[in-house]
Amino acid sequence: MAVQLVNSPFTGSIMKIAVLAGDGIGPEIVAQAVKVLAAMKHDGLKLELEPAPFGGAGYDAHGDPLPEPTLKLARQADAVLCGAVGGPKYDALPRLQRPEQGILRIRKELGLFANLRPALLFEELAGASSLKPELVAGLDILILRELTGDIYFGEPRGRRTNSRGEREGYDTMLYSEPEIRRIAEIGFQAAMKRNRKLCSVDKENVLETSRLWREVVKDVAKNYPHVELSHMYVDNAAMQLVRNPKQFDVIVTGNMFGDILSDEASMLTGSIGMLPSASLDAGNKGLYEPAHGSAPDIAGKNIANPLATILSAAMMLRYTFNLEEAAQRIEAAVKKVLAQGYRTADIYATEMRRVGTSEMGDAVVAAVRQ
Ligand code: NAD
Repeated sequence: MAVQLVNSPFTGSIMKIAVLAGDGIGPEIVAQAVKVLAAMKHDGLKLELEPAPFGGAGYDAHGDPLPEPTLKLARQADAVLCGAVGGPKYDALPRLQRPEQGILRIRKELGLFANLRPALLFEELAGASSLKPELVAGLDILILRELTGDIYFGEPRGRRTNSRGEREGYDTMLYSEPEIRRIAEIGFQAAMKRNRKLCSVDKENVLETSRLWREVVKDVAKNYPHVELSHMYVDNAAMQLVRNPKQFDVIVTGNMFGDILSDEASMLTGSIGMLPSASLDAGNKGLYEPAHGSAPDIAGKNIANPLATILSAAMMLRYTFNLEEAAQRIEAAVKKVLAQGYRTADIYATEMRRVGTSEMGDAVVAAVRQ
C-alpha cells in the first residue's frame, strides 16, 4: 500500500491551505498562525490561504457544521488549518448539527486515519508540568494514534437483553491487516524523521486484535532496519509515561489506547495551549489543529495562547509539504519568544512578560523574520 510521509519537498507551484477558524478562540488563534505562515513567504514559500466557515460558524452560515463549500475547499486544498469548534450557543442543537460533528465528518470525508500528537515541553516551561521538572524538561515525544478503526467503529455493536433478562451493551474491537500496516508505516517513517525509536503499544497478552497488531508491526519493521522497535502493553505504557516519559520517541497505537495515552501525554507538558496536532491521510494531506477546544470562557478577550496553533502550522510544513527547515524555523521562533519571557495568561509565571494573543503572534513573527 502506497502510504508514506513525503520524502521530497512539495513540488506543486502553490501550497493551497484551507483555513477553517471555527468558533470561540478559533478565529483569534488561527489569525496568529496565518500571520506566521505569511511571514514565511519571505523564504519563497508560495501560500494560498482560503478561509471557510466551519463548526458553529458553518451552522450559522449554512445550517451545517461542515457546509458543502467548506468540504469542497478542504478537498481541493493540500492542507487544512483548523482552529477549534463548539460553544454553549450550539449545545442544544440536534447531534448531527453540532459543531463537533463537523470535525468527525471532515476526518472521515478526507480519510484522515493517522493522528500525530507531539508532547513537547519547552525547557522554559518545565515548571508548568505536574511532574518534576527534571522528568519532563526537554520532553519531545510523538504519539501516533490510528483514528478511523478499532472499537469505536467495529461492528457489531449495540444493546441487547441476555437469556437472564439482563441488559447488555457490546462493541467490537476490530483491525484489519491493511489498517494496521498503514499506521505502522507512518509510525516507522515518523521515527525515521526523529530519533529512530518506535514503541508499539497494544494488549497482546489478552486481545486477539493486539496479537494481529503486533505480528503486522513486526512484519513492517523488516523494511525499517534503522528503527529500533519495541512493544509495550498499554497498562505499562500509561505507567511509563508518568514514570519516565523521556524514554519514548514515537509511540504508535490503536484508536482507543491512543485516545487515552495522547491525553495523558499532553498533560505532561502542563499547558493545553501549547499542543499541536496533525491528522494525515494516505498521501500526506493533513488537517492541522491545536489539541485544545474552542475555550468559550476566554473567547474574544485576546488572552488565548496561539502557540499550539502556530506549532500546528509548523507541523503542516513538516508533514504535508516536507519543509523541515521551515518547520524548525517556526519551532525555534516559539522557543525564542518563550526564552525572551513572553507569556500568555495560561503559561504566565511571575517576572515574565504577560502578553495577549495578537502580541504573542507578533513576537513569533518577529522571531521568524530574524
Ligand atoms: P477547551 O480545551 O476548549 O478548554 C479547557 C480549558 O482550557 C478552558 O479553561 C480554556 O479556557 C483553556 N484553554 C483551552 N485552550 C486554550 C488556549 N489556547 N489558551 C489558553 N487557555 C486555553 O475544552 P472544553 O472547555 O472542554 O470545551 C469547550 C468547547 O470546545 C466545547 O464545545 C467542546 O466540544 C469543544 N472542543 C472542540 C475541540 C475541537 O475543535 N477539536 C476539541 C475539544 C473540545
